[in-house]
Amino acid sequence: IRKQQLIPKAQYGGRHAVTMLPGGGIGPECMGYVREIFKYIGAPVDFEVVDIDPTVDNDDDVQYAITTIKRNGVGLKGNIETKSEAAYVTSRNVALRNELDMYAYVLNCKSFAGVPTRHKDIDIQIIRQNTEGEYAMLEHESVRGVIESMKVVTASNSERVARFAFEFAKKNGRKKVTTVHKANIMKLSDGLFLETSRRLAKEYPDIEHNDMIIDNCCMQLVAKPHQFDVMLMTNLYGSIVSNVVCGILGGAGLLSGRNYGDHYAVFEPGTRNTGTAIAGKNIANPIAMINASIDMLEHLGHHFHADLLRRAVNKTVNVDRILTPDVGGSSSSSEVVDSIIDNIETVAKNEIPI
Ligand code: ADP
Ligand code: MG
Repeated sequence: IRKQQLIPKAQYGGRHAVTMLPGGGIGPECMGYVREIFKYIGAPVDFEVVDIDPTVDNDDDVQYAITTIKRNGVGLKGNIETKSEAAYVTSRNVALRNELDMYAYVLNCKSFAGVPTRHKDIDIQIIRQNTEGEYAMLEHESVRGVIESMKVVTASNSERVARFAFEFAKKNGRKKVTTVHKANIMKLSDGLFLETSRRLAKEYPDIEHNDMIIDNCCMQLVAKPHQFDVMLMTNLYGSIVSNVVCGILGGAGLLSGRNYGDHYAVFEPGTRNTGTAIAGKNIANPIAMINASIDMLEHLGHHFHADLLRRAVNKTVNVDRILTPDVGGSSSSSEVVDSIIDNIETVAKNEIPI
């Protein structure tokens, strides 16, 4: 959205270096599919793979991953596990977002015509504050049996993410922004978030702005999702609402999410699940990670490759309906990937927009 974000950093002879963080569970196999497809289409991207050991208590691997993302400017990631039970070892995924100051998260929630769901033709963009709120990771036991957990809301971050949302809406021809909150109970913290979005809304008279309490929002989403356009919310509500919408559209294996700061961008599957139970079984839906890789190609300005791959994915999912079991199909992960590779050739030859 901001200018700096659109300038990809590490570019050598037209190729981009991108940090790849496979993470745990199905992450590594999904990354394998991305690499296979990128090789096939000749995407001008070189991956720098960083594995993060989930069992160690120090954060050397995470710091190294952060260093490489700072160098490359862009990352593609699975969900990183934190297996240590020591309270001082905090979530690596959260640490990465916080340390790279990727304050805005965007989840593109668009229905897939080929995936059977109760609601059709949904087109929602969720914008989530990605670095503070309930994820401040400031918890302590003040006296025995009493845990305090800090929810931190700042004027500056509320303003940055609200600005991001309205600019996003303006740029993408969106009509409405809905701020989701619980300001009736959390009067100061969510109150600040809501007030900030209301203030910024005045600068965008062409975009309608309303707000909704999180509880009602969840009910409205499952009952009447078409009323939503762009949704803006704090970190924890964003995590929950994102998963609600993924569920409505067909589950964990489809949508992709984007983390943005002023300098770095990281792309990943939308629900941020590890999928540990289904790892190595050739049944994980590869689409979410492939969609994340398409978002990344677009961010890098490789529009030809992004468009080719998006059309091939759309043909596989919506026309041929080659689907994994999680979305009602009977194909394996690799059969879905093979279909996409076949379709790359088809969509490249004919110009039919799919
Ligand atoms: P978490 O990472 O929060 O522990 P899980 O890994 O348990 O979440 O994932 C939640 C659910 O979503 C599980 O039932 C898992 O099998 C399913 N899931 C996650 N990713 C995929 C995928 N790519 N394809 C199919 N199912 C998936
Ligand atoms: Mg898991």
